[in-house]
Amino acid sequence: MENQETFRREVANWLEENCPPAMREPARPEDLYNGGSKGEFPCEDARLWFERMLARGWTAPDWPEEYGGAGLNKDESKILKQEMKRLGCRPALAAGQGLAMLGPALLEYGTEQQKREHLPKIARGEVRWCQGYSEPGAGSDLANIQCKAEDKGDHFLVNGTKIWTSNADAADWIFCLVRTDSEAPKHEGISFVLMDMAQQGVSVSPIELISGDSDFCQTFFDNARVEKRNMLGEQNKGWGVAKRLLQHERTLMSELSELAVGPRYSPSEIARRYLPMADGKLLDGNLRQQLTQYDMDAMVMGLAKQKAFEEGRQGTLDPNTTSFFKYYATELDQRCSELKLALMGTQGLGWEGEGFDSDERMEARHWAHSKILTIAGGSSEIQLNVVAKRVLQLPD
Ligand SMILES: Cc1cc2nc3c(=O)[nH]c(=O)nc-3n(C[C@H](O)[C@H](O)[C@H](O)COP(=O)(O)OP(=O)(O)OC[C@H]3O[C@@H](n4cnc5c(N)ncnc54)[C@H](O)[C@@H]3O)c2cc1C
Repeated sequence: MENQETFRREVANWLEENCPPAMREPARPEDLYNGGSKGEFPCEDARLWFERMLARGWTAPDWPEEYGGAGLNKDESKILKQEMKRLGCRPALAAGQGLAMLGPALLEYGTEQQKREHLPKIARGEVRWCQGYSEPGAGSDLANIQCKAEDKGDHFLVNGTKIWTSNADAADWIFCLVRTDSEAPKHEGISFVLMDMAQQGVSVSPIELISGDSDFCQTFFDNARVEKRNMLGEQNKGWGVAKRLLQHERTLMSELSELAVGPRYSPSEIARRYLPMADGKLLDGNLRQQLTQYDMDAMVMGLAKQKAFEEGRQGTLDPNTTSFFKYYATELDQRCSELKLALMGTQGLGWEGEGFDSDERMEARHWAHSKILTIAGGSSEIQLNVVAKRVLQLPD
């Protein structure tokens, strides 16, 4: 415990000294550095911050040093995260598909060669990854994927398509679920492969959204080649790897509020900023009740996470509980945004333009963005199904 407090003080001092002030301002998703061969630093301070964090191994703090991390244990990693949040330090490298999803899966399932080849490049931000799971006929029913990989001895030839591939046009490599046995029951004919996107036979078509942005792409494979040494786990046993990676994705999504990204104020702070108070209480009884309920639910969520952290350390945590945390954290995040806009009144409508400060514009945009959270990474309904079946063991 004393060691942990010493470590916390050291971390806090180092962050105070090394995190440039601009990197402690609230960040929008586009303010973060994502790495990859096409990645650009949003500003010089972002580059400096990244280089300093990288030198300490803190872009991937809990990965072993030989794979580009700092070898921190669970408690130390948590302390680092807590201090970064407390001091408002942005992530130096965005926790995307490589760092937060494929990396942990590689640590668990990868061969030594795969770990040495891929992990350091992720930690150093040299290679950006995207996720090739969903297909036009396989979203919630993910095991229905049809993208086919034909066995050619030392390699596969892949044909088919993936959809909703976030940032595929900015990525260097893609991890993909492919069908390697069409005769077997659907969960048993899937393999998990790693593919270089800079090859003939891989093409990407951005999907334009109503906002004019295009964060998503459709990805096409036309006789694309995957060496067998780039298969993660055994042939036709990819479903187990896929599910494990989803647990990491769901953990990431349940911990978004623990990162110093997005709006800076909590609902209580927003209430104090925008609404009349009497004796420290909101005058509007309805909003006061909603605020109290939200604060209580957020506190319960924090305690549940702390309990899960302790169980994780003792090795007794059921990994399927990640579905509960993904479900509840993303629903809570949406409620938080709704509540803040209600508290802000007309100032909560500030998408852009004069009359709205940057915090107000960020709140409105975060509110819109929060809508995706209960779909991406598996919808809320699917998380409830997983909890019902695998955690509570309810019958079908
Ligand atoms: C922002 C964002 C980023 C994404 N990025 C990626 C990515 O990078 N790579 C990738 O592969 N995919 C990505 N996806 C796709 C995502 O995984 C799917 O959208 C999600 O799994 C839901 O699948 P679907 O869209 O096909 O909806 P469907 O599966 O068609 O579901 C439609 C509705 O039916 C409900 N439903 C379906 N089946 C059941 C059931 N059995 N019980 C109860 N309700 C059910 C769902 O909850 C949902 O409300 C992304 C999605 C979003 C929103």
